[in-house]
Amino acid sequence: MLWSQTFIPTLKETPSDAEIVSHQLLLRAGLVRKLTGGLYTFLPMGLRTLRKIEQIIREEMNRAGGIEVLMPALQPPEIWQQSGRYETAAGVLFKVRDSAKKEWVLGPTHEEVITTLAASELNSYRQLPRNFYQIQTKFRDEIRPRFGLMRAKEFLMKDAYSFDASDEGAMASYGRMYDAYRRIFARCGLQAFPVEADTGVIGGSHSHEFMVPAETGENDVVYCEACHYAANIEKATSGLPATAPREVGPEPEKFATPGVVTIEALAKAPYGVPANRQIKTLVYVADSRPVLILVRGDDQLNESKFMARTGAVAVRPADAKNAADAEIFAALGALPGSLGAVRNVPAGWKVYADARLRGANDMTTGANEDGFHLKGVSMERDIKVTEWFDLRTVKVGEPCPKCAQTLKIRRAIEVGHVFKLGTKYSEKLNATFLAEDGSRHPAVMGCYGIGVTRTLQAVIEQCHDKDGIVWPLPVAPFQVCITPLSVVPDGQPMTLARQLSDELTAAGIEVILDDRDERPGVKFKDSELVGFPLRVNLGEKSLAKGEIELKPRNGPVKLVPIAAASAEVIAWFQAEKAKYQAA
Ligand code: ATP
Ligand code: MG
Repeated sequence: MLWSQTFIPTLKETPSDAEIVSHQLLLRAGLVRKLTGGLYTFLPMGLRTLRKIEQIIREEMNRAGGIEVLMPALQPPEIWQQSGRYETAAGVLFKVRDSAKKEWVLGPTHEEVITTLAASELNSYRQLPRNFYQIQTKFRDEIRPRFGLMRAKEFLMKDAYSFDASDEGAMASYGRMYDAYRRIFARCGLQAFPVEADTGVIGGSHSHEFMVPAETGENDVVYCEACHYAANIEKATSGLPATAPREVGPEPEKFATPGVVTIEALAKAPYGVPANRQIKTLVYVADSRPVLILVRGDDQLNESKFMARTGAVAVRPADAKNAADAEIFAALGALPGSLGAVRNVPAGWKVYADARLRGANDMTTGANEDGFHLKGVSMERDIKVTEWFDLRTVKVGEPCPKCAQTLKIRRAIEVGHVFKLGTKYSEKLNATFLAEDGSRHPAVMGCYGIGVTRTLQAVIEQCHDKDGIVWPLPVAPFQVCITPLSVVPDGQPMTLARQLSDELTAAGIEVILDDRDERPGVKFKDSELVGFPLRVNLGEKSLAKGEIELKPRNGPVKLVPIAAASAEVIAWFQAEKAKYQAA
């Protein structure tokens, strides 16, 4: 491929609306262009890399027994109503209308479509297990599309769905996908780690996300270096002890706290109640019903844990400033800062408490009377808790739940997700099969996604330096960039460049020949920005000495005799390729 005959619009300046380095490099290296927020056009270099990532995914999915299909992006809303997600996923669903005013959904994911297919096609245990996958465009009405391809409105996903006759079978399917994901990311040159993930509203028991550590990631991963425990903070737990019990009086005692509405204020003189002896009372609206949630004063509520455990899908804090919620605070008799669960909790309201509060006494909490608190509160004696469970967010430095060593937290980008679904969708959409004994059962499902476009950008986020992208060989748009420093048509540099290009191409190497009549500095900068793994410099000076310069993107220049150049490049290529073989 000649540089002049493709389209690589590199930019010298950093685009001002690109906040993170991988987004800047996507634009500067001419891989993509923005149409509008969350929508991008792939240009030739970006597209080549995208196709390579797709191909690696395809090979590994096929190897793991996946069967490739292609489903419609446009979907009837009826199947979404049937699964119940027409409401619960409403926030991300793009809806369109046809000329007859009928509504359609643009698929954000394909559980409904594939389960409908399975319902009509997979009827006997003899046809199971099956794992169908596709690589296809998804649409999500993200509130804040940002960071380029990381969070887009339209993006490419590989999504796979497994159907098994038994739970054990489903676990085996899950395991195959988990292994395939490890191989896929390794082959892409990406360091991505599996972490335990929240199973959220979808339910199910097993879920891992594949995370790429990066400061710019939108997830927090809690991990232990000693035992390799790793979990998304939405799910992570720690080995902290419960609150130590103390002696308490016979009943809670009310005391005046005029103007005190924060944990911090109550911790100060003259009150001096440490945060860890306070109960934080939060009022939430969960699926339209008010509930009280209690965590210790020094802890933060983890909404994901609350949602995962209660199954609530629409969860928000009640807002004292919002007229719609006024009734809630009127029912409690006080405003935030003076709330508690000891007295005056309206009948029928559920009270959820964090497990760390279990057994705690001599606690202080709001009295449900503005300007008053209660002290000497005994959790179990004085508060009618509906359910106890782990509701708090883990903090750095806490003991690992598995081995008690110190937990760390780091930011990461989620590139993939494997999920054991169970029978939720197969039940709702009637994907049942006849077992050997003639009984009928819903298939046990799993779903497995990789953000293909997000993965591309995550590679850049992880593999770059001050000069540009440093592509891992397997996903580089071209593997070698041949750079004649003079492009006089029949001059020695161009002649040798063409010859070398032919030889390398014949050896299966993807070559781009920079035939632009530009200064060497411009060519070098561009090839470094775009990140080709090896540049071969053909300059008149070194050619006169019988030498060619090989410049690996991430290593020093090596001079080789002209006659040995192609063999040297092929040897470099083989060695480089070997680095990305998946175990
Ligand atoms: P997130 O938590 O980042 O919103 P998700 O958990 O909703 O993602 P999944 O439904 O698990 O995403 O989708 C599978 C994969 O698709 C994700 O692991 C991610 O790599 C990718 N992905 C999800 N949403 C987007 C998006 N808006 N833009 C680009 N890629 C996305
Ligand atoms: Mg996910």
